[in-house]
Amino acid sequence: MTLILGLEGTAWNLSVALVSEESVLSEAESTYKPKYGGIHPREAAQHHAAELKDVVSRALRSAKEEEEEFSLASIDAIAFSQGPGMGPCLRTVATAARALSISLKIPLIGVNHCIAHIEVGRWQCGAKDPVVLYVSGANSQVLAYRSGRYRVLGETLDIGIGNALDKFARYLGLSHPGGPKIEDLASKGTDYIYMPYIVKGMDLSFSGLTTAAKDAIDAQPDKKEDVCYSFQETAFAMLTEVTERAMGHLCKDEMLLAGGVGANSRLQQMLQTMCEDRGGRFYVPENRYLKDNSAMIAYLGLLMLKSGNTTPLDKSQVKSNYRPDDAEVTWRN
Ligand code: AMP
Ligand code: MG
Repeated sequence: MTLILGLEGTAWNLSVALVSEESVLSEAESTYKPKYGGIHPREAAQHHAAELKDVVSRALRSAKEEEEEFSLASIDAIAFSQGPGMGPCLRTVATAARALSISLKIPLIGVNHCIAHIEVGRWQCGAKDPVVLYVSGANSQVLAYRSGRYRVLGETLDIGIGNALDKFARYLGLSHPGGPKIEDLASKGTDYIYMPYIVKGMDLSFSGLTTAAKDAIDAQPDKKEDVCYSFQETAFAMLTEVTERAMGHLCKDEMLLAGGVGANSRLQQMLQTMCEDRGGRFYVPENRYLKDNSAMIAYLGLLMLKSGNTTPLDKSQVKSNYRPDDAEVTWRN
């Protein structure tokens, strides 16, 4: 059995997990909650630095509770999120990962955070070769695997859908994360208010939608639910459109949803309907594997270790703009 300790801390969630081929042995986390506004990179990094020791200890302790024979010597490698993410947060977690790798004398593995979202989804759902819709705070991408890379087929040209929702939620006076609160309000909306639907080929744009939603609230402050509903219907239809086009052009019949915004039940419903209509299969993992988590980092670390893909110390610098198509996929053929 191979056992990997994974560290995640690209943004709001600091998380540490121990994962083997069979299961997630343990996972511990600590969430940064901004006092007001959005995620402040330096404050989030300070949160991670202050909490790291405790979160690592909790993950190790619960591994021991789970499996009597577990010890530090059972760990085969340390995996960490090398990017993309917020620079100060990435650096804090990478420093801890290097220290653990050096002191335990085991390999270090720098993981692409987006690909970790994809691989944990494939693992948990059993999808083989899906078109992936990856929707998180900062990212919105449609991807598929081909010849040693996850290719980005379409993506947002400005902000990620999660950030678009969070920004609008902030305007409504709602705290971070705004996505679930918007979902709640949207479920009570009934009347569609016009919103800009911006799809350019396979690419998307969300910032105009946030502005339009703010303008709609200014014009009709008592129509909060309808504006949230219209925002969601528009944004999720845009995402569903490009995902369907990717499936059609690639002749793939599996679709996997990944990333924190994937928890949204209306988005899941639209994608499910689209897949059913074309005779495809829709896969979505449990919420704990959709949001940022360390089990996915440890799991991708495991795939990378087994395919001989480790990261020497002098190549372990963080990459805040690390694109999924920059990472070589050594574990699929
Ligand atoms: P991640 O970075 O993958 O953890 O995703 C975080 C983003 O997911 C934040 O922008 C949240 O607002 C968003 N999010 C979480 N739950 C939901 C939901 N139910 N509906 C829409 N967005 C959500
Ligand atoms: Mg993420």
